[in-house]
Amino acid sequence: MKYWLFLVAKLALVVAVLRGLWWGMEQVLPEPVTIATYQLGRFGQDFYWTTAIFLFFLIGAGLVFLCFLDQRYRCRTCLRRLRMPLSTGSWDQMLQFGRPKMEYICPFGHGTLDVHQIQFSGREKDDWRKHDDDIWRELESLSESEK
Ligand SMILES: [Zn+2]
Repeated sequence: MKYWLFLVAKLALVVAVLRGLWWGMEQVLPEPVTIATYQLGRFGQDFYWTTAIFLFFLIGAGLVFLCFLDQRYRCRTCLRRLRMPLSTGSWDQMLQFGRPKMEYICPFGHGTLDVHQIQFSGREKDDWRKHDDDIWRELESLSESEK
C-alpha cells in the first residue's frame, strides 16, 4: 500500500509542477491575436502557444515516465532504491544457464527484483521476490552445513 501511495504522491507532485509551468506560460506568453470580434485559439493558430504546448507535453510525459521508472526500481516494502545489480543467465548459452536477467536487491534485504533482459512474448512483468524477515538465515544454514 505504501508503495502505491508513494507513486500517487510523486504523480501529484508532477501535476503540481505542470500546473505551475502552465501558469508561468500564461504569464509569459501573450494572448492570441483578436481579429475583429474573433479571437484565435491558442493551439494550432498561434505559433508561440503551439510551441509552448508542445514543450509542455514533452516535459509532462518525461516527468511521468521518470516517476514510473523510479518506482520500478524501488523496494516494495521500504521504498528505498534497489542496489547491487547482478547480471545472471547467459546470452549465448540460454538453454544451459537460463535467460539473461538483471537482479536488484534491497539494501535491507526485503526482496529481490528480477528484470528480464530479453522478452520472448511481449512485455513481461518484473519478478519481485520477497525475502523472509531474517535474511541471514540462509547464510547461517550454509555455514552450519559446512561444519
Ligand atoms: Zn527494502
